[in-house]
Amino acid sequence: MEIFKFGADCLREETTSVDKISQELLDFMDDMIETMILAPGIGLAGPQVGLNKNVFTMNVDEGVFEKIINPKIISKDGISTFNEGCLSFPLLYSDVVRPEWIKVSYINEQGKEVIREEDGLWARCFQHELDHLTGTLFIDHLSKKQMKELKSDLKDIRTIGLSQNEIERITLSKQK
Ligand SMILES: [Zn+2]
Repeated sequence: MEIFKFGADCLREETTSVDKISQELLDFMDDMIETMILAPGIGLAGPQVGLNKNVFTMNVDEGVFEKIINPKIISKDGISTFNEGCLSFPLLYSDVVRPEWIKVSYINEQGKEVIREEDGLWARCFQHELDHLTGTLFIDHLSKKQMKELKSDLKDIRTIGLSQNEIERITLSKQK
């Protein structure tokens, strides 16, 4: 499975809810898990592999591969900073501030609704992946200063296929 990199339109599109958990979807998500492991990464969202649905996979706890469907954040609290990366931005990392604790709901691969409270890396990863479902990328959370620093890394990003339009768009939107 190909992981689309920053600049691909599918990363900026909003996804739609899953109405029915078909075997086809579960098989597709098995492939996503395999792709995530190989990358390697701890989370992979539908849009990153061209699937316009509210789904992502996670592997935060060792040996635990989760299929998350129709996720929502019910409540959140606290603040934490973590050096985040993204499989759609190879080689790029930056500190991102997010709520530390979250209470979430989602449908698991058995089709059951799960309500869960988490903090730490699981909460971090969940929020990052959830963002992907609204076309939000981790760079959208960065400060002006961080974006300035990022500019110096743009040369590296270009080498991995970042489009010039996308570079200008994010740079301009952060300068407002
Ligand atoms: Zn990501």
